[in-house]
Amino acid sequence: MAYQRVKGTHDLIKKDAKTVDCIRQIFSNIATTYCYQSHYVPVIEYSELFTRSVGKDSDIVRKEMYTFNDKANRSITLRPEFTAGIIRSLIENKLVVTEPTPIKSYYFGTAYRYERPQTGRYREFYQGGVECVGTSGVYSDVEMLNLVIDFLSSLALHDEIHLKLNYLGSEETRNKYRDALRTYFGKRIAFMCPDCHERLELNPLRILDCKIEEDQKIIAEAPKITEFLTDSEKMEFAAIEEAVKKSGISYEVDSGLVRGLDYYSGLVFEVHPLKATVTQGAIVGGGHYHNLVAELGGPDLEGCGFSFGVERLMILLNELSISVEAPSPAKIYVMPLGEVAYSSATLLASELRKSGNIVEVNYAGGKLASAFKKAERLGMQWGVIIGDDEIKNATVQLKNLSTQEQVTISQVDLIAQFGGFN
Ligand code: AMP
Repeated sequence: MAYQRVKGTHDLIKKDAKTVDCIRQIFSNIATTYCYQSHYVPVIEYSELFTRSVGKDSDIVRKEMYTFNDKANRSITLRPEFTAGIIRSLIENKLVVTEPTPIKSYYFGTAYRYERPQTGRYREFYQGGVECVGTSGVYSDVEMLNLVIDFLSSLALHDEIHLKLNYLGSEETRNKYRDALRTYFGKRIAFMCPDCHERLELNPLRILDCKIEEDQKIIAEAPKITEFLTDSEKMEFAAIEEAVKKSGISYEVDSGLVRGLDYYSGLVFEVHPLKATVTQGAIVGGGHYHNLVAELGGPDLEGCGFSFGVERLMILLNELSISVEAPSPAKIYVMPLGEVAYSSATLLASELRKSGNIVEVNYAGGKLASAFKKAERLGMQWGVIIGDDEIKNATVQLKNLSTQEQVTISQVDLIAQFGGFN
């Protein structure tokens, strides 16, 4: 009997596996430059965590979670998203009280949702993202948007995407808005899909996410959340918009954007492909939460975060024929001229390796011409020559092995030039 993979899952092999590796590496490099730290959380959590945070009336909790009882009869859920797990982990490990704020975590891994499988919508999929906890002011939100744009730009997607912003407001604001939506949709529900009937009962905000074309026409005319924001919420949204504009990020306000997770209570945003593609829905989504940390038993800290769908990114990259390359380390061949230079060469090599460069030292000596041949055989890109004069002047000869161009530079500049992946 031949075994098949579980419906809604997929194998990543060859080129696809390499692309996921590259996306992961590019994302973690960029998150690191924004001072985020890698954070791993379990795939399984107690179900209550998601019911409490994502919201018991959300589509995710009502219909999409992989939930089972373990042998001790505890309700366990495969993570449908990462935010709840990361916040739980920050609280449980007391980082929310011991670490200086903001506490910045990034993650990458699989998530599970029992959805109808289709292109860009799977039951097991990869997400990457960040959570920034203990934020203050609008600039944390704007910094997060900058990170998203930097990340997508480094995948050459800068001109291919479209950022949508909205602002949700406090529980009180959302309750008023819900009441208004209940009245509006209540009068029109006979013309809407069965799912919307259920959403009207449970949470009319969810109707705004409905993808059915006929329903969309009714949704377009519905009241907008902006009409219900308090003056201070309106001011905060205006301040975010102002700061986003100053960052040079182009966006559009979409007052129908509510997101499918209940914890957002300030800025919400999504990134969509600019042109119509087979990609289903948003490629990135995120926002600001005021109460989630306290709701999950932590101190009164606000936070913001986003996550992106790796498969959706891959579909978009494929459609646009963009192939991603992870930044590769420089390959440097250090050539000491005689044994007197060996110790300087060793020190230089170890400095260069600290930044992730691939470095080999030619301790075999011999003629420079044969050293260059060896460098070529090893696929080296740079030659670093160090002899008596260079040691005396704290310089080296740096040769670009493909252009043959050679310059004298100080050892300090050499380390600075190769101070990251080149
Ligand atoms: P969310 O946690 O719902 O905000 O989703 C964040 C991102 O994860 C989305 O923008 C998508 O790119 C991706 N995503 C969500 N659900 C799925 C799914 N079922 N299959 C593939 N990607 C998904």
